[in-house]
Amino acid sequence: GCTAQDITTALRAGAAVVAEHRDELIQLDREIGDADHGENMDRGFRAVIAKLDTAGPETPAATLKLAATVLISTVGGASGPLYGTAFLRAATAVGDDTELDGRAVAAALQAGMEGVVARGRAEVGDKTMIDALSPAVEAARSVAESGADGAKVLAAAAEAAHQGAQDTEGLVARKGRASYLGERSAGHVDPGARSTALLLTAFAEAAG
Ligand code: ADP
Ligand code: MG
Ligand code: MG
Repeated sequence: GCTAQDITTALRAGAAVVAEHRDELIQLDREIGDADHGENMDRGFRAVIAKLDTAGPETPAATLKLAATVLISTVGGASGPLYGTAFLRAATAVGDDTELDGRAVAAALQAGMEGVVARGRAEVGDKTMIDALSPAVEAARSVAESGADGAKVLAAAAEAAHQGAQDTEGLVARKGRASYLGERSAGHVDPGARSTALLLTAFAEAAG
């Protein structure tokens, strides 16, 4: 099962992928936003790693909650509170389990997405991170139902998230800054959907 240590390792992998793709995320946000998504995510995940090093949380819930509070307090943009809420809801969903099986991982991912929806009110097709998260949650659920472990659940989620992120290219934004562009937002991948897909891939690789 997936322990606090495994989640810490996954968050480190997430920070690494965000740092590696910082410029790409900035460029995507330059096209339809304010060119700071890569900077926001990199700042936030660096702070998460720094805090993990000093705090050493001992349960999955405490680890996820630490990520949530650090992201909310260090990322100024829309994405900080949204990702923060996702991690906070995931923390609540895992409860006091010390090891998460595939079903618990899928349930945490679903709770995270529901948190983003509760906070940001985006629907599927609005060209946001929800367009990566929603197919990821569906894929995770169906793989978890067959009894797969957390690593396989995350791998399925990541693959679906990449397709979902890629598919945002054709969409017109109806939420967030990109919505100010109206029809001109079409033809570009949503930066938050892209960062969601990258993070899930990093989590899956760390778990696998
Ligand atoms: P900001 O837009 O404040 O500069 P970021 O650039 O860090 O913040 O994040 C932008 C991303 O946040 C978008 O690409 C989109 O995926 C996501 N986003 C914005 N608003 C919402 C919302 N209401 N619901 C879900 N995701 C959203
Ligand atoms: Mg931005
Ligand atoms: Mg901004």
